[in-house]
Amino acid sequence: MAISHQIKYHTGTITGTWGAAQLQGMHTQNPHTRDARPEFWALCIRCCQLAGSVDVAFFFIFLALGSPILAWVNVISVAMYVYAYRAFKQRRNRLAIMLIRTEVLVHACLGTLLVGWESGFHYYLLMFIPALFVSMRARSAWILAACLWAYYVALDVIMWYVEPLQPISTNALLGVHVFNLTVVFLMFSYLALFYVITVTNAHKNLARMATTDSLTGLLNRRHVIALTEKELARQHRRPSNLTLMLMDIDHFKQVNDQHGHDMGDRVLAAVSERLKCTIREQDFIGRWGGEEFLVVMPETDLAQANASAERIRQAIQELVIDSDQLQVRVTLSIGITQYQPEEMLSDAIARADHALYASKSAGRNRVDTTLA
Ligand code: GH3
Ligand code: MG
Ligand code: MG
Repeated sequence: MAISHQIKYHTGTITGTWGAAQLQGMHTQNPHTRDARPEFWALCIRCCQLAGSVDVAFFFIFLALGSPILAWVNVISVAMYVYAYRAFKQRRNRLAIMLIRTEVLVHACLGTLLVGWESGFHYYLLMFIPALFVSMRARSAWILAACLWAYYVALDVIMWYVEPLQPISTNALLGVHVFNLTVVFLMFSYLALFYVITVTNAHKNLARMATTDSLTGLLNRRHVIALTEKELARQHRRPSNLTLMLMDIDHFKQVNDQHGHDMGDRVLAAVSERLKCTIREQDFIGRWGGEEFLVVMPETDLAQANASAERIRQAIQELVIDSDQLQVRVTLSIGITQYQPEEMLSDAIARADHALYASKSAGRNRVDTTLA
């Protein structure tokens, strides 16, 4: 009855995937429809194959143990998994999940009635519990959990009064019991791991979305300020130079006006990519506004920053953005200033902005510096 656990797998997976989607604040994905994420369905299909394989093994085990009825129960189970597998492939996911759930419920019950409570087939039913609570509303989950409890207790009580219909030898029973326990332990561990991985990935995604700009992939304004403040706090203990570089694409409005907003977006993305490749490893860059970028250069004096800015300016000047027989080139104006000890970060940025303004006034595509 390794089958059942696989099923639970499914449900547990649903859990993880759905929980993560909600966590990410993405549109709700109903795990019972084809809207759920591809990894979820891939996992379901894998579990289906696994469960089917385990039941094939059970078929031979019960034949060898002289329990043909149980062996044939496993044949039916394998058939249900094959059918569920085909349903998944045809994207009839609701049917597939329904088949798997039915198989687990019936197989756990039959296994217990035929071989006895000690066989441990009933443990597979417990795996429904976490799945229920993560995959549906609390009210429905409580109702279904209560039904499951009644089903489980009824099976237990029946087995107090009824002898197993197809008993097997004590040693064989012990073997089946240990096997089922092992499978259920593995299943719960796997589900826990899958859930943790899903939630961790969701957290990472959330953190990435909260700190980066979606169009350019650069840090967003809030995060670049936070990182700079952190760097300044570090510098408070070990003073060194920190230089700020504010840059703005020249005549960017014309790019939008002449080639459309989509092309403008493509240019922004291409410029950002080139900037990322051109700045040094210890520097960080963020999208400051529409077509403005802020580069923060720790442990860098004005002369070094000037050299870097000149390199960046040239790299952007040489950049050609190709699209549908169209070639777009842009240039950057850059304003540089050095952070002064004890001043507010906003004051230093205002100075860099001033230098940028000077650069624009002096004809654009150039680097200007403002001393404190
Ligand atoms: P200057 O050389 O003085 O900087 O001129 P400019 O045209 O670059 O500056 P201006 O401030 O007049 O125009 C900036 C334009 O950038 C206007 C705005 O529509 C465009 N822009 C801002 N954010 C985005 C964006 O995310 N995508 C696109 N395509 N355009 C943007
Ligand atoms: Mg501009
Ligand atoms: Mg601007």
